[in-house]
Amino acid sequence: MDLDLTANLSSIRDRVAAACLRAERDPGQVRLVAVSKTVPVEIVQAGIEAGLSILGENYIQEAQAKIEALGRRVQWHFIGRLQTNKAKYAVRLFDLIHSVDSVRLAEEVNKRAGQEGRRQPVLVQVNLSGEETKGGVSSEETADLVHRIMALSHLEVRGLMTMPPFFDQPEKARPYFIALRKLKEKIGPPLTELSMGMSGDFETAVEEGATLVRIGTAIFGARK
Ligand SMILES: *Cc1c(COP(=O)(O)O)cnc(C)c1O
Repeated sequence: MDLDLTANLSSIRDRVAAACLRAERDPGQVRLVAVSKTVPVEIVQAGIEAGLSILGENYIQEAQAKIEALGRRVQWHFIGRLQTNKAKYAVRLFDLIHSVDSVRLAEEVNKRAGQEGRRQPVLVQVNLSGEETKGGVSSEETADLVHRIMALSHLEVRGLMTMPPFFDQPEKARPYFIALRKLKEKIGPPLTELSMGMSGDFETAVEEGATLVRIGTAIFGARK
């Protein structure tokens, strides 16, 4: 395998910067979450050496092994579906959980964060397409969930996350990114983060206001 992490990273940074220029945004407002699910620990380590500073993981056990091996000189974000019975581990392991999508899950994460003596930063995942295979709260219920989380003392809700349906043309994802941005604007403070955009569509997401782009394949190559 011919994997040039430095070249991939530099190309992504250039593309983010170009998208920021088109949208008159400051590139400093966009952070790269390198999605390392299924990527072996040695390659993730090489990625960190090449300059990655936030890693995104989908599975608790896999993440735990990597975090034990690589440590906390980088941030670790949880981006997968979170089961309530794993909330305890998620709180121990992750700097930011992108995928809170129900009151029940929020309450469980809040309880576990309290037991760990910390305040857990979270995003609310929104399902804008209604696809049943995807997690996320409906857009109609998002404001209510955000407000309920704000009442929980061990959670800090920072923004919204979404994953549009898969399209082969990034332009088709744009309405979803616009919808997430508008939802965030409508709800207002304390929401600041917009986690949206993956390998195939991150430039469009940045044009529409993404502050966290979650990129796997374009950094690490295709997953097996
Ligand atoms: C796997 C995954 C990504 C990264 O997808 P790529 O297309 O490989 O960039 C981003 N977000 C979530 C929630 C994922 O599960």
